[in-house]
Amino acid sequence: MPKVIILGSSNAVPTLKAENTHMVVIGENRTVLVDCVSNPMVRLEQAGVDFHDLTDIIVTHFHPDHVSGLPLLLMDMWLLGRKEPINIYGLPHAIDRVETMMGLYNWSEWPNFFPVVFSRLPDSELTTVLDCSDFLIKSSPVHHMIPAIGLRFEFKNSNKILAYSCDTEPCDEVVRLSKGANVLIHEATGESFGHSSARQAGEAATKAGVGRLYLIHYLTGKFAKGNLIAEAGETFNGEVKLAKDFMVLDFDKRMPLSHFGRGTKDSNINRHKWESTSEP
Ligand SMILES: [Zn+2]
Repeated sequence: MPKVIILGSSNAVPTLKAENTHMVVIGENRTVLVDCVSNPMVRLEQAGVDFHDLTDIIVTHFHPDHVSGLPLLLMDMWLLGRKEPINIYGLPHAIDRVETMMGLYNWSEWPNFFPVVFSRLPDSELTTVLDCSDFLIKSSPVHHMIPAIGLRFEFKNSNKILAYSCDTEPCDEVVRLSKGANVLIHEATGESFGHSSARQAGEAATKAGVGRLYLIHYLTGKFAKGNLIAEAGETFNGEVKLAKDFMVLDFDKRMPLSHFGRGTKDSNINRHKWESTSEP
């Protein structure tokens, strides 16, 4: 603790080994899901996280590869008797549509549904999303096809900082959001409308002066192409890694600089050895 588990690393097209991009940020008191796709209960169980422990969900933008799992997650929490409220944050564009989507499922008629507290975030830079004992989370608008936010996590016990670009073209907002971060997780879909290449991710990392760059939301499996780490290395001198599903990023100050190990006690279920890295 605190740590981040990558639940998916793929772009909009998931493959056998890589789900759509989403992640869970775990502190002592709060567990925050960043985007919610596919089958969140199974994904969280594979990650060794009890989905009842989720306290907060941040919806970065309303595209299916970031939000499609939300109705199922909420329904399953309800079916299993959740009583505690859950907080859902996002831009008005996203939250309005989440409410419409849930309305199509007539969720207001599901009896004894637990409280869902929606927070509509202003479309301004470095907006405070959540300030709790574990972390301060801020959002900034980024440049995607629809309104979208990148995120900055300031971990209070270690003073380490994680920034996440979300889906975006290169923009100054991401650079400012990532300023001085220990780790930047940046998308690398490829240079196109609303997206960035690995090379452009490296440029953002250099401008922001981050310690380590993780590439995410890239073409995976049979669609993979190019050497993304080498591409990013052309524009960024620091360490570059590919985010992979179930990778654990450790932001605890007490951990050694880098180690490999099993992510959680349940990871043997998945029969793959998890990479766990302590962040600089
Ligand atoms: Zn996406």
